[in-house]
Amino acid sequence: MKKFNIGILGATGMVGQNYISLLENHPWFNVTWLSASERSAGKKYCEAVSGRWHMQKEIPSQVKNLRIKKISDIADCKANCDFVFSALDSGVAKEFEEKYAKAGIPVVSNASTHRHTKDVPMIIPEINSRHLEIIPGQMKSHGWDKGFIVVKPNCSLQSYMTPLFALHEKFGVEKAIISTLQAVSGAGHPGVSSFDIIDNVVPYIGGEEEKSEKEPLKILGKIDGNEIKYFDGLEISAHCNRVPVIDGHLACVSVKFRKKPSKEEILDLWEKFRGIPQELDLPFAPKQPIIYRDEADRPQPRLDRDSDKGMAVTVGRLRECNVFDYRFVGLSHNTVRGAAGGGILNAELLVKQGYINR
Ligand code: NAP
Repeated sequence: MKKFNIGILGATGMVGQNYISLLENHPWFNVTWLSASERSAGKKYCEAVSGRWHMQKEIPSQVKNLRIKKISDIADCKANCDFVFSALDSGVAKEFEEKYAKAGIPVVSNASTHRHTKDVPMIIPEINSRHLEIIPGQMKSHGWDKGFIVVKPNCSLQSYMTPLFALHEKFGVEKAIISTLQAVSGAGHPGVSSFDIIDNVVPYIGGEEEKSEKEPLKILGKIDGNEIKYFDGLEISAHCNRVPVIDGHLACVSVKFRKKPSKEEILDLWEKFRGIPQELDLPFAPKQPIIYRDEADRPQPRLDRDSDKGMAVTVGRLRECNVFDYRFVGLSHNTVRGAAGGGILNAELLVKQGYINR
């Protein structure tokens, strides 16, 4: 396959750097165009991230000397890219993602801006790839000929949504209480100051609890005409905490089902769970999307966040709950599965299903 040329908006930030790092040697995608804020525009990529490159790998050689463009250089992007990943600040994303889509450039976004736009699909490919069917309607209603916007959900959802969804179809998830322990990389760079987070836990992340409670309902929703109708059969109560971990969001979940499964049935469904990315054998798809660990003290961020390239969700501590039916702990890598890796998987699905063409 001839590779797709891709651009990254917000290429210098925490998520942008993850895109650059993860896309090195991607079999389908070639990074050819980068943009960021005015403070970075005009610089070579290596100059712009000098002193703030957070990845363990070196900057890939094909990207190192690329000149960063202004976010407003949309015509230049169009001339050089088949589509873009957006890792922009939400405020900027609001202004520019639509401009890129209008110019005929598909936008695969990480920003929260369009998560609740009624005709924008918010995708976890193992769960709701069918929501992509709304794209032609989105393009038609805006009069866009080739561009469109697809988003992924908040980074914390990945640690519990797939394990819950795997059980939902058969047993109906009715209520969930979810307490997240979220890594500092989730706030970008510089994020929370070291003085605030070392030797500490901050029991508040602005807007995060609302996202954790509302976004799952859109993901479980159904297309109805030109909008995605939210699922109304699930109640979630979320507590979101920032903890002194670099990468990996952990979620402690108590769940009540419409029909209570046995522990063996839950473990069996998690073990056998596969989605469209696995069926299509997409390059970034984890082979085993949900990995169950038997040990009493797993999952742990440091030990489990990199499972299957950081794309698998690791669960553990499944046990009966005194108030609801069951309790478990879920973990996923927030800047990989929860951000750039999730965006790449969305793009692979869009290519494979013919939504993105040259
Ligand atoms: P970040 O580290 O603060 O990076 C923000 C990026 O946006 C930088 O490249 C920055 O460029 C660019 N930018 C800022 N203002 C701009 C402007 N006026 N015009 C053009 N570019 C501008 O943030 P992040 O953590 O990577 O997050 C990026 C997006 O992904 C956010 O919307 C966030 O909510 C979402 N997200 C983050 C995570 C995570 O785990 N971190 C997970 C899921 C989703 P400069 O470097 O030049 O300033």
